[in-house]
Amino acid sequence: MAYRRTNGILTNDAAAPEAEADYIVASAIVGHSIQQIKAGVDVQFSMEPTDEDPKPEKWETEWGKLQQAAQKIGELAAKEVGPDSHRVKAGTAVDHGVGAVIVGIYGLAGHEKPTAADIRHPDNNLSPKGAVLYDKIKQHDRDPDYQYIGRGAYTGFVDNPNTVGDTDPVGPLSSARFHVSDLGHGGTSDTAFEGWYPRWLPPENSNLWDARVRRDQDQHDRIGWGIIGGNLAGLAPDDQEPVLGTSNRADQITAIMHDEQGMVFNDESGDRDVKGYTHGMIQAIYKAYHLGPACTPYEITVGRQTTKLASCFACTLFMTATAYPPTSTHLGSAESWVPLYEPYKPSGTPHKERIVINDLNARFAEYCDTVLRSGLKALDGDVIADRYNGCRANLRHTLGEAYDPENRVAVSIFLDALTVHSKELSRVRRVLGLDQDHI
Ligand SMILES: [Zn+2]
Repeated sequence: MAYRRTNGILTNDAAAPEAEADYIVASAIVGHSIQQIKAGVDVQFSMEPTDEDPKPEKWETEWGKLQQAAQKIGELAAKEVGPDSHRVKAGTAVDHGVGAVIVGIYGLAGHEKPTAADIRHPDNNLSPKGAVLYDKIKQHDRDPDYQYIGRGAYTGFVDNPNTVGDTDPVGPLSSARFHVSDLGHGGTSDTAFEGWYPRWLPPENSNLWDARVRRDQDQHDRIGWGIIGGNLAGLAPDDQEPVLGTSNRADQITAIMHDEQGMVFNDESGDRDVKGYTHGMIQAIYKAYHLGPACTPYEITVGRQTTKLASCFACTLFMTATAYPPTSTHLGSAESWVPLYEPYKPSGTPHKERIVINDLNARFAEYCDTVLRSGLKALDGDVIADRYNGCRANLRHTLGEAYDPENRVAVSIFLDALTVHSKELSRVRRVLGLDQDHI
């Protein structure tokens, strides 16, 4: 199975991807909220708190936007679930200090929601070996040789209180970049890709590549799809930051991420095809699930550029689908987020880890379908901005009649939407007509 070589995510229209991505992600956010409320779980979208008094104007503006969107999502959910069910709110995450964590709460195994004190000082609850690893990650907070410390740097790890068998914690697990292959290529019976709808890669002659052509280079010399900062290939490097021998802003961003901030690229093959980024918490969840129900996945913020003590929306969807919901969620950007498609740093046998990946990815794929259908139903012509009406019809058509595990469409188009980078809060606001600014 090859990539889907169309100009749009849902259509062949090169003018469409931004609106399509907005509508797909907004549907996922609204659909997830509805599903959570149906399950009796309150939904909170968080931003970072501020100690400043009076609060900075920028913070107040953002807070107002988040509150307004949460209110609107709550109203839509109430229409679907019932009038007493309005439980979507904006909030603030636990204040971020060095060593504070996000926790994947494995409620199925009786794990309880951590308190704010547990979030600030997880070491109180860790196994002795887990506490040693946690301290090491904290001590190397600014060390790019140990872990990724750039923008959006969260390091995953797994505490392992098991007393027999494998008793080691796992980590550090930093966000890493991966090549997203054409699913099913050379597939075997245990491939993680079986039954997945192919991922999207715009055709060679599409205008969508224009911004990705390297400055002063031949039009075939382009930045690969999904790479963060790739649309800035036509600009000069920013001389306020290290240039690192690059000739354009996109390559500069990549070089800083890799050379100065320590992100591992598992795709040294370069710029071909589609790239994605797997966050530390997601890597930790596969490991925790593999090690057994006593184990807990964590994520710590590291470096100086990460201040939100909350999971991105894509991590939240995956964590909810796999029954490890996060302590807190934000609506920032999950740029080119991907689950793992292959075992990465296997600690046991890769074959067993592949089975875990297949199993958890299958749950994620099914949940993506559930939330997109639910969001699509709620985000109808009465509540969305006019320019999204076409996207709604096209999403409905693309999803088809019912979920089919032999053709997992929803998960692929959700991941495709995340390759068109934007803040998730901005997408929801645009779709709901709360912001009139152009996409
Ligand atoms: Zn994330």
